[in-house]
Amino acid sequence: MENCIFCSMVSGEIACDKVFEDDEVLAFHDINPKAPVHIVIIPQAHIATLNDLDEAHAPLVGKLFLAAQKLAKEQGFADAGYRTVMNCNRLAGQSVFHIHLHLLAGRLMGWPPG
Ligand code: AMP
Ligand code: ZN
Repeated sequence: MENCIFCSMVSGEIACDKVFEDDEVLAFHDINPKAPVHIVIIPQAHIATLNDLDEAHAPLVGKLFLAAQKLAKEQGFADAGYRTVMNCNRLAGQSVFHIHLHLLAGRLMGWPPG
């Protein structure tokens, strides 16, 4: 997808601080972290919003969460706790229209989120 910053990271056109990559998923440090650990986990395929998912995407979405779990275990915060968030559209504050799972850790997370 042209003009998508996350697609440009997948293609290597724009650099990112990569922490994990496989055939379907890419994860990198958020450029504007909201917690001591803030990793963005994306599918390599362009999907604009959560509203654009269909049944065929279910395994791919599962892989985003499995990547979050793997990183949490590897980086040692799985037991202490962490939060995963996927924002959808304007009221949730989605700013990049290529779906992504935020992985946040390293501090107490407030509830409900703001
Ligand atoms: P959202 O607001 O849920 O769409 O999240 C988009 C996230 O992508 C934000 O947390 C941004 O800080 C992050 N982000 C945007 N551009 C970059 C970039 N070039 N490298 C890393 N993270 C980015
Ligand atoms: Zn994209």
